[in-house]
Amino acid sequence: MALTGIQILKMLPKTNCGECGIPTCLAFGMKVAAGQMEIGACPYVSDEVKETIGEASAPPIRTIKIGAGDASFSAGGETCLFRHEKRFENPTGIGVLVTSDMTSAEVDGRIERFNTLRYERVGVLMKADVIAVKDSKNDAASFTALVRKMLDGATDAKLVLMSDNAKTLAEAAAICGTRKPLLYGATTASAQNMAAVAKEAACPLAIKGANLDDTVAVAETLIAAGIKDLVIDTGARTLRAVFEDNVVARRAAVTKKFKPLGFPTITFPCEMTDDLLMEAMISSVLIAKYAGIIILSDLQGDVLFPLFLERLNLFTDPQRPMVVKEDVYPVNGPDENSPILVTCNFSLTYFIVSGEIEGSKVPSWLLIKDTEGLSVLTAWAAGKFGADLIAQFIKKSGILDKVKHRELIIPGYLATIKGELEEELPDWTITIGPREAGHLPAFLKEWKPAA
Ligand code: SF4
Repeated sequence: MALTGIQILKMLPKTNCGECGIPTCLAFGMKVAAGQMEIGACPYVSDEVKETIGEASAPPIRTIKIGAGDASFSAGGETCLFRHEKRFENPTGIGVLVTSDMTSAEVDGRIERFNTLRYERVGVLMKADVIAVKDSKNDAASFTALVRKMLDGATDAKLVLMSDNAKTLAEAAAICGTRKPLLYGATTASAQNMAAVAKEAACPLAIKGANLDDTVAVAETLIAAGIKDLVIDTGARTLRAVFEDNVVARRAAVTKKFKPLGFPTITFPCEMTDDLLMEAMISSVLIAKYAGIIILSDLQGDVLFPLFLERLNLFTDPQRPMVVKEDVYPVNGPDENSPILVTCNFSLTYFIVSGEIEGSKVPSWLLIKDTEGLSVLTAWAAGKFGADLIAQFIKKSGILDKVKHRELIIPGYLATIKGELEEELPDWTITIGPREAGHLPAFLKEWKPAA
């Protein structure tokens, strides 16, 4: 049962010293209760209180880290059923399967695609996170050799080590050292042995359940054995069954605080179909419905890119607009004679405008003004994209050192501020651009600096 702000206040020193960055203990307690601050931000609470509050305010889906330090990947940490209720916390990990009976060329291909299929969108690097290494021959030597190959070849991959043999898993986990892989998977029969391996290696452990009930039973055994960091696979291998299990597990954990299912899930679209496009479709459903990690049979750009975009969109905070940094962005290699366009820093606007400029092939300077994530008209109406602020931004942006001309193209929707902007920037020619980004290519191709 989560604690209220008042209950947390009773455990705080109540000196209102402000060292936590919040002026009063009451306000701090409220923020901790709302999950907006960690109890550790108050330097005066005892370890005992930290543990009590930490346990009580822990998210119903435990956060599991694979890897170590800054290079770790987190799954879980979720607190709600629907994104609009609050937000989804940790983006679904996307991974690829390599097995010890694949040929060297097949493995090398997957490593290469893991390392190279990376895309940047709205300042975010989108890439695969995980490589699942499977001991498909039940042979320790070939499995550990494959693990070594992953450690050397995919240096930023988070590893899932999959073997039915606890001893083999222990050997492979030892090779990984500080990379701290996820160990897969504990069954009813192997739970105690696998628990011992996970404890020894200090790694998270995945449950390989036969069904949802069996998964709960194995989770209870592992929790009783002192294992806290678990990931669950209910054993379902059809879209309908995985979807149902994921929904049941999330509901049970979030609404009933049912601990044995309060862990992120790992799912295997790679084992549900032989058709890559069907695999992509299954993955897209599972990203939307609660998968902590999905493992694909291979990485292909045409499948990965839409999955990355879906993940990017779902795991943004719906209460905060996505923004890009205020800056001067060169598009298509501009020079001192290239046109200058200005717009707001709402990432969708940036994404669409920069995409259209890119598509036009006209070298241009795109100036992004911080409007706190508001779109052009909303920002203007809110007083965050007026002529005075745009003029200040132009002067301090550094664009004057990059171009010879003084002509600024403003969004068509800001036509009404042209006169004001000419007063603020008397040396400049202000040109009204098109209202719709889709008309930018034709506009730019015709553009010439004012004489
Ligand atoms: S640092 Fe601790 S004692 Fe000081 S105001 Fe914050 S919660 Fe209260």
